Amino acid sequence: MSVNVAENLKIINQKIREAEKRAGRAEGSVKLMAVSKFHPAEDVLSAIGAGQFLFGENRVQEASEKFPPIIEANPDVELHMIGVLQSNKVKNAVKVAACIESVDRLSLLDEIEKQCSKIEKNIKVLFEFHTGEESKSGFESEEEVIEALTAIQNGKYPHVIPAGFMTMAPFTDDKERVRKSFVMLRELSERMKAKFPQFNLNELSMGMSGDFEIAIEEGSTLVRVGTAIFGERDYSK
Ligand SMILES: *Cc1c(COP(=O)(O)O)cnc(C)c1O
Repeated sequence: MSVNVAENLKIINQKIREAEKRAGRAEGSVKLMAVSKFHPAEDVLSAIGAGQFLFGENRVQEASEKFPPIIEANPDVELHMIGVLQSNKVKNAVKVAACIESVDRLSLLDEIEKQCSKIEKNIKVLFEFHTGEESKSGFESEEEVIEALTAIQNGKYPHVIPAGFMTMAPFTDDKERVRKSFVMLRELSERMKAKFPQFNLNELSMGMSGDFEIAIEEGSTLVRVGTAIFGERDYSK
């Protein structure tokens, strides 16, 4: 089934602006990431043609095949990695991405630092925090997040720029449980901003196709939308 990427982007952007307004937030305070995993480069190009420049992918190999030519032709395009990242994939991930949103353990920062120092690249990271029972990814304890930020503060990871937090809400129709998950991330981010005022930890990456409006009401600055832009994913590919 073919989808109209440009039309979908227009609709989602409208819904984002309306949600900002309802939540009493400044217009343009929420960025849209187009999650293009499992969709071909031509769909990404359609989105770029419609004015979309921020993309997300969750598999390093797919991103490394799809994005380098796109970024070469469109230098304004920015790619974030949003999926669970194995250490042996970090080398290729930091080459193609401007931000790793799925930092979920301290050892991953060791590897990111090692690979970024080799290519002399600074990279933004978000700390993924586990806020819903079903999802398995993300830091489980606030102490570990504090430990990570303290290590960065102490100069252990000079190529790593901490930029905020990310979460996935539980996959459920229960809106209150989804909301709780977003509130939990926002409150964590507020505590970390107070504890580490020297860092700019303002990014709050939360909300997907099914729940981005709730996320905006709870303070999201970046929504990650795939299906509502590109249609259903074909996982058989
Ligand atoms: C796939 C994915 C999304 C987008 O999900 P949709 O429901 O298709 O909008 C957002 N965030 C992460 C981490 C993902 O893996």
